[in-house]
Amino acid sequence: MADPAAELQRQLQLLAEQFRQRLQRDLPELSAQAEALGKAANEAARQPLLLAIRQQLHKLAGSAGTFGFAALGEQARRLEQQGGAWLYAGQCDGSQLPAFIADLQRLSALAGNAGPGGSSEPLALAFENRRTPLDQRIAILEEDPVQGQSVELTLQNFGYQARWYASAAELSARLAQQDVDALIIDSDHSAAPELLAGRTSQSGLPLLVISSSNDFASQLRAVRAGAVGFLCKPLNLPSLENALQRLFSLQQGQPYRVLIVDDDLELANRYALVLRQHHMHVQVCHEPSTVLEYMARFAPEVLLLDVQMPDCEGPELAQIIRFNDDWLRVPIIYLSAETDLSRQMQALLRAGDDFVTKPISDNALITSVFSRAQRARQLSNALARDSLTGLLKHADIKEQVSYEVARAIRSRRPTSVVMLDIDHFKQVNDQHGHPIGDNVIRALANLLRQRLRKIDSLGRYGGEEFLAVLPDCSGEQAQKVIEEIRQHFTRLTFQAGQQQFHCSFSAGVVQSNGEQSAGELLHLADQALYAAKHGGRNQVRLAV
Ligand code: GH3
Ligand code: MG
Ligand code: MG
Repeated sequence: MADPAAELQRQLQLLAEQFRQRLQRDLPELSAQAEALGKAANEAARQPLLLAIRQQLHKLAGSAGTFGFAALGEQARRLEQQGGAWLYAGQCDGSQLPAFIADLQRLSALAGNAGPGGSSEPLALAFENRRTPLDQRIAILEEDPVQGQSVELTLQNFGYQARWYASAAELSARLAQQDVDALIIDSDHSAAPELLAGRTSQSGLPLLVISSSNDFASQLRAVRAGAVGFLCKPLNLPSLENALQRLFSLQQGQPYRVLIVDDDLELANRYALVLRQHHMHVQVCHEPSTVLEYMARFAPEVLLLDVQMPDCEGPELAQIIRFNDDWLRVPIIYLSAETDLSRQMQALLRAGDDFVTKPISDNALITSVFSRAQRARQLSNALARDSLTGLLKHADIKEQVSYEVARAIRSRRPTSVVMLDIDHFKQVNDQHGHPIGDNVIRALANLLRQRLRKIDSLGRYGGEEFLAVLPDCSGEQAQKVIEEIRQHFTRLTFQAGQQQFHCSFSAGVVQSNGEQSAGELLHLADQALYAAKHGGRNQVRLAV
């Protein structure tokens, strides 16, 4: 296999070469236009020529620098601004016109030597985490043994390899082994101030801080120690796990999907290449009128939009995209050679979220896109998912069942639907309190998530009720899988203060016969669940 860095260089050079060829076509054309401008008889003849020249210069100003022709890009920018001013005034300045024309004709001279282009130091965007999300090794520093044990046990129930340490020395010994994926430190621990002060935001290991005070100074200390999460006591363990999940899913999530809309082919391809090098999925759309198809098919998480395109301007396109509520969460970043601040602001007022000026360095491009994609995905998850369990919400899982059932009917493959409910859950709440009940719900959610396949869909159907649809899976197979999960769940030990307890669930399973509707299947699964409850609970029933 070729060295990836060398391969990137090769591809960048290829694009630079294509760009150089484009210059060999465009610059003589510009020179000819300049000559025509010089010969034009009057202002009426000059203005349309000037307009065309300015458009060419604008494109050059935005792209040349990126391909290593920095001097050419800067000169094009200067001439663009001069031409723009004359267009605005409706009149060229006769005394400066000859110099302007001469400068245009000299642009080719600046196209001789290309520098290294916009590529620079590689950016470290934490991605290469080796382990599955729920198999992470967590070390906890906590002086209070009840709290320490409770965090350890609950995180274990949530599927993590959690280990609690009461002493900083033991923790340090463990950290020296370098087999920890995240660290939780109680800032009230006697050794915490020293530990936290010794860390910086660059100390690699992800850190969550728990604290008894929620004030600004405590949070600032946590940030300066490099914390990615801050939780206040009394500790809400599902929130703690949300912070962990965010952390790990950011590290190993699916690549961000980025759509670039730009009529400048070489430039768009270059941006795409650079972003793909950084673990992003990129599609390029050169034709604004097809953008809606790209949006629907590719479902980008970030949109990079050129401002000046031949048939439709970027802000117009952004407004069209904002007509559709489904895409409200997609940040729109204008990537443009527009340097005029007031025009940038006008574009933003119409639609769009940010403005990035061409030419842009590779690292600035990567950072802009990455940070917005990350934020968009966080928001999207927070909106679409149940906050306690991170699973699909009621309406979404029902929709997923309908979708899978329809697909099963078409493909004639067996599909199973599972309805699942925790036994005597009201008693858990009554005896141990609602927050402990929440831990149980979360533990079961994680267990299901861990044990089911990627193609299965899982949702929180109601309070302590779950619904799953298992495509390409017979009723017997589904029953077997859920039965194993049931056994595992009964073995989990939950802690409430000094007390320990266990829980169980009942489940109903139904296999589609290829004819029933989703509604009928839900009803049958519910009936099987009811039979399991009446048959003594803590069991999995298959609908007959
Ligand atoms: P059964 O074995 O028949 O299912 O009995 P049950 O007690 O589990 O069933 P019931 O439906 O009577 O009670 C469910 C309880 O779940 C009642 C409700 O307060 C509680 N609950 C619902 N949502 C949540 C939640 O998000 N967190 C907690 N802690 N409790 C919840
Ligand atoms: Mg119940
Ligand atoms: Mg119930």
